Amino acid sequence: MKFSEKIPPAERPAGGILPPVMTPLPLGAVKPLGWLGEQFRLTVNGYFSHMEDISFFMREDNGWLVPGAKESPDGNPSYARIAWEEQMYWLRGAYKLALVTGDEKLTAICDKYFDAFFASRRPDGYFGPDCLYAIDSENGPVPDVWPHFVAAEILSDLYDATKDERVLDLLHGFFTFCADLPEDKFIPPRDRHFRWQGVIQNDRCCDAVPVIHKVFRLTGDEKMIELCRRLETINDREPREKIEAHVVNFAERFRYPAQRYPLSHDPEDFERSRRRYESHIEKWGQMPGGLWAADENTREGKTDPRQATETCAMSEAVKSFTYLASLSGESVWSDRSERIMFNSYPASHTPDYTGLHYLTADNQPTLDALDHDYDNKGMMTRYSAFEYRCCQHNTGMAWPNYVSSTFAETADGSLAALSFAPCEVDYRLPSGRVRIVEETDYPFVTDISFRIFSDSPFSFAVRIPSWCEGGSAVLRGERSGIPARPGFMFFDVADGDTLDISFKASVRFDRYPLNNDCVSVGLGPLDFSLKYREKWTAAEIRTDRAGREWTDWDVEAEDPIFPALDLSSPVTVKRKDVTGNPFTPDSAPVELSASGYAVPGWGMGEENTVDPVPPSPPATEGGAIPLRLVPLGCMRVRLSCFPHVGEPNFGGRS
Ligand SMILES: [Zn+2]
Repeated sequence: MKFSEKIPPAERPAGGILPPVMTPLPLGAVKPLGWLGEQFRLTVNGYFSHMEDISFFMREDNGWLVPGAKESPDGNPSYARIAWEEQMYWLRGAYKLALVTGDEKLTAICDKYFDAFFASRRPDGYFGPDCLYAIDSENGPVPDVWPHFVAAEILSDLYDATKDERVLDLLHGFFTFCADLPEDKFIPPRDRHFRWQGVIQNDRCCDAVPVIHKVFRLTGDEKMIELCRRLETINDREPREKIEAHVVNFAERFRYPAQRYPLSHDPEDFERSRRRYESHIEKWGQMPGGLWAADENTREGKTDPRQATETCAMSEAVKSFTYLASLSGESVWSDRSERIMFNSYPASHTPDYTGLHYLTADNQPTLDALDHDYDNKGMMTRYSAFEYRCCQHNTGMAWPNYVSSTFAETADGSLAALSFAPCEVDYRLPSGRVRIVEETDYPFVTDISFRIFSDSPFSFAVRIPSWCEGGSAVLRGERSGIPARPGFMFFDVADGDTLDISFKASVRFDRYPLNNDCVSVGLGPLDFSLKYREKWTAAEIRTDRAGREWTDWDVEAEDPIFPALDLSSPVTVKRKDVTGNPFTPDSAPVELSASGYAVPGWGMGEENTVDPVPPSPPATEGGAIPLRLVPLGCMRVRLSCFPHVGEPNFGGRS
């Protein structure tokens, strides 16, 4: 076994476009099993796959299916009601889900949209709704290309899956259309739009750059490079602070500087993305769960873990992390993907995926339709199949994006395991076909077994997570130690091998100095929450256009307590088997027993929101109380950041 901090890059060409250090396997090559397979089964059976009957935007007469539509089904002439991002968000998630699961119903719906794409293509390369071809702005009618940038990712997936040259031609044609637009007609500044929808194409103007790079690699058309430079100029013309206060804008835009790197060959471009992400998280992300306090926008003074994050930002951030991993060969981006998907994303949905909410926070003991101390007022946390427009259409890509983050082909034609979960890989490397069965209950345990079947021997890289304290790897009866440092182990494997990995992890306290030095409890890739007893209340029953009933749910913690954690008291770990959907309080496969004290005065405060975590050590009252903690992703109503008393003395890290 060899160790390296990074996956090594390919040979660098003197000019042109740098190849990625590694390329995520195309969707369909990794089949989710175990608890991950269950997330897909639930998503495919949940509200997302029924959006045609639930969502106004997804009706059969929407402008993406009927390009000539002049008004929305309710007679509204606003282009944003006829056809905009909602349909493309949904299609992007639905097609990714279809590729991973092979679901026939989703595949059939996606094919309808693809047919409409091809049928609507114009001589200038534009395709899609007429209404997006010319929207109002102070510059006169201009195209709104933002929804097409989402469609570009769908077409990129479609090309990978089919290798159909018509798909590449459609993409190439649309990007040529963009490149040929006169200056004043291509993405005017954000203040020249009459509606906020028109602003998004400015704020997320570089989202499609990785796809444009791909089209350049496949066609060699230099016009694609000109288009990338043009988009960068648009991106540079406005101060970014205000734009990136928005939670989803930031989740997409922190990767933009790194997107220049393949053409500039300047590592500083990549470093700018790293610094942009890390400085944002240093201020706003002082909490577990991998997210940051931006309950629509960041707000000065609102950094406590009671502030929340929008569901869209979760899967967009994972996508950005996977892209940065592919450019750099670094392991840290996979740590970040896992932290969001294991600890935050499951709580954005009901356990059966029949409803979602807009905002998820680490300290959030009630979910309802009331105002809270969030930037957005009104209903933000009640679970519903019918609300939260963007997230509701966009969330289908979350678990497929996680699957994309699991395995990658490296530049030298071998394979890397980046993020972990039970799954099976079937893929053709340059050296031949490889099948790997990954048997594990990770993240609830930190042991992983890879059973390998392959035509030829190959080099297999396995990520060492940043929390790893050592451990062992066993291959063909030979045992080697795992270094306690983030990076990759490289193994020479062959057909019939089994590689057993055991990462050592102990209970740790993570501290957040800027939020009154509060602490959360972690174990390996998992963060933990107090195990509240949940009380679910059916708030409303709604009927979709097909007559199915869907329940809106409020959830509250019964008899909530708000304790300080005693760091000097031992924390014990109890485990049980992983079955079904493990992301519920009752099925949680890991439970920690800790100890704490009541903190008088800490509890629910103004605007139905838990008070900020008080400074430590807080005044306490009464004797020690036992605390049960379960993985944060298992809890919808949650308390994961605590004030603390005592110092750790059980070997846990802090
Ligand atoms: Zn959203």
